[in-house]
Amino acid sequence: MKQPASQEWLPEIERYRGDLDRDLGAVARNRLAERITGGLSRPSKMPEAAWGLPASRCNVGSTLMQVKGSVCAACYATSGRYNFQRVQRKLEQRYEGLAHPLWVPAMVLLIRWHVGRYFRWFDSGDLAAGNHLFNICEVARHTPDIRHWLPTREYEIVKSLGVPRPENLTIRVSANMVDSPPPAWSPQTSMVITKEPPAGTHICPAPEQGNVCGSCRACWDRDVDNVAYYLH
Ligand code: SF4
Repeated sequence: MKQPASQEWLPEIERYRGDLDRDLGAVARNRLAERITGGLSRPSKMPEAAWGLPASRCNVGSTLMQVKGSVCAACYATSGRYNFQRVQRKLEQRYEGLAHPLWVPAMVLLIRWHVGRYFRWFDSGDLAAGNHLFNICEVARHTPDIRHWLPTREYEIVKSLGVPRPENLTIRVSANMVDSPPPAWSPQTSMVITKEPPAGTHICPAPEQGNVCGSCRACWDRDVDNVAYYLH
């Protein structure tokens, strides 16, 4: 079931410029990090943890949901378990937490504690604002041993980042329409296909291996220019 676009309330997100070591101590107490961020999730497909927002809060995606043939018209994050009330409540808690001044140290603490090597942003949802991407870059900088993969359709937010991307953060800008090529301006991209993708594209092997990543880490790999997922 598709959800309506819901942008009535936007969190006011400030860029984090605090003292990380001091703030890590604060968010470690009384499960504050979990309360700010809503905690991490464990999608069955992924090798490790992820974090996302409600699909109904997507900016570009909420418009695309109404467009026939778009990737978001078939969004998996608007159906199945994502419709459970407790899941929706958790996702909404995450959205509200974006405005918390300790969001960066809270995410750093949870990732350092729970993630070994590979972390995925946005198993549902998308970037909320430019300062949200800035703060994610801060999280990546403070977790240098972790590879971060961030898929997004928020082209303008990515283009206007204004600071260098951390080496361990792969931002994969995604094509909006099924079978259409991804934006040429982004070095790492992804697309959804029903037919043969462009030459050189890495086709996601998950459907052939129990719908899990297994040993594949192409989405995190900056040397893989374009990843294609078959529409399901
Ligand atoms: S391309 Fe590889 S890393 Fe990406 S989702 Fe598919 S299996 Fe996982």
